[in-house]
Amino acid sequence: MEITAIYPGTFDPVTNGHIDIIARATKLYHKVIVAVAVNSNKSPLFDITQRVSLLEQVCADFTNVDIIGFDNLLVDCAKQQGANVILRGLRAISDFEYEFQLAGMNRRLSPELETMFLTPAEQYEFISSSMIKEIARLGGDVSGFVADIVADQLINKFNRG
Ligand code: ADP
Repeated sequence: MEITAIYPGTFDPVTNGHIDIIARATKLYHKVIVAVAVNSNKSPLFDITQRVSLLEQVCADFTNVDIIGFDNLLVDCAKQQGANVILRGLRAISDFEYEFQLAGMNRRLSPELETMFLTPAEQYEFISSSMIKEIARLGGDVSGFVADIVADQLINKFNRG
């Protein structure tokens, strides 16, 4: 059976941690759909078009990755896309409680969809989009944590105020 995984998130912006998870997933699944949540309640720094575009650029070398934006219920989006697996990244125990609750809720909403977790290489375990934005806002160097095009976009955002 060919398994398609959907990897949902805010990706505001995409980090090397996300890319590590995507790279691992490309070897396990037939197809990986990275689903960028519009998430207007989180007031993202980058709008949906920018977040999708950055992901498209950093994932350009993967042949079995698609990037989409979505604004509906994840389980509905997964069904529309023909995904059998919801993929999430787990960094630390602190992620576990929220992820466990989310997986349980998605199972109640759609019992046939399995949630699977991957962990990143240890050098990425401490990276989060929110911390990257904070470092960039304060003028710190984020080049070790995100792709060059993402670092450039962050510098642009904060220089323009
Ligand atoms: P969300 O708002 O849905 O948590 P994020 O963009 O922050 O969206 O994260 C998307 C997914 O990627 C989540 O499963 C999150 O746990 C995972 N993730 C985020 N950063 C990392 C990282 N550094 N390493 C591995 N997984 C990560």
